[in-house]
Amino acid sequence: MNTPTVLAFGCHPDDVEFTCAGTLALLKNAGWAVHLATVAGGECGSVELGREAIRDVRLKECADSAAVLGGEFTWAGGEDLELEFSAELRAGVVDVIRKAAPDVVITQPPFDYMIDHEETSKLVRHACFGAPIPNVPSPKYPHIEKVPHLYYTDAMDSVDIFGRPAPVHFYVDITSVMDVKEKMLACHASQREWLRAHHGIDEYIEHMRRQSAERGKRAGVEYAEAFMQHLGHGHPHDNIIAEALKDYVVFV
Ligand SMILES: [Zn+2]
Repeated sequence: MNTPTVLAFGCHPDDVEFTCAGTLALLKNAGWAVHLATVAGGECGSVELGREAIRDVRLKECADSAAVLGGEFTWAGGEDLELEFSAELRAGVVDVIRKAAPDVVITQPPFDYMIDHEETSKLVRHACFGAPIPNVPSPKYPHIEKVPHLYYTDAMDSVDIFGRPAPVHFYVDITSVMDVKEKMLACHASQREWLRAHHGIDEYIEHMRRQSAERGKRAGVEYAEAFMQHLGHGHPHDNIIAEALKDYVVFV
């Protein structure tokens, strides 16, 4: 049997680490291959460096984080605060999915605090559906065999843009791998300083711990991550994450 593969396709560098790195660590422990990708390159993540200079730093941080799980990282070629559902970006995102040929794709939810995240959600959803179709264009890689299972992470602060609770299909108990999640997030060293300057958050790691603990409280465990599955027509409906992580998944 081929090694099952998960592709965590975030918007900006560090989104994956905040929202689903614990689940990725559990899948890795269960024998899965893990790929990381972002649509944007983190160009707005500094008040000191220019767009290209901070992008170089941040893409290296993403690669370091992926390496914690023995995985590869790929950037789809978009830029912070410039994302749109364009032909060029669609092709770039399709290419990343064709390169990884994943069984599971995890991305941002369709509603979230930033348009970049919502555009990422649309782009990745489009790419999951289109990657197996031979005549859907992408620059480098041939079409894959099937539509991968598609999941959405939690929204920022677990709410939609109107402040309503984000819907959840299930939680994953990540208590046993919080050290790995922390290690992956800590790879994004440049952002501790940036967040302090822009958002007034001094405790980069603590912020992640608080959101994981809030979700843990809902799930009845210490730390958890929340997910929804895309169940639209043409997408797989069986819950492959729940099967792979049955000792860790909590339905509430
Ligand atoms: Zn983001």
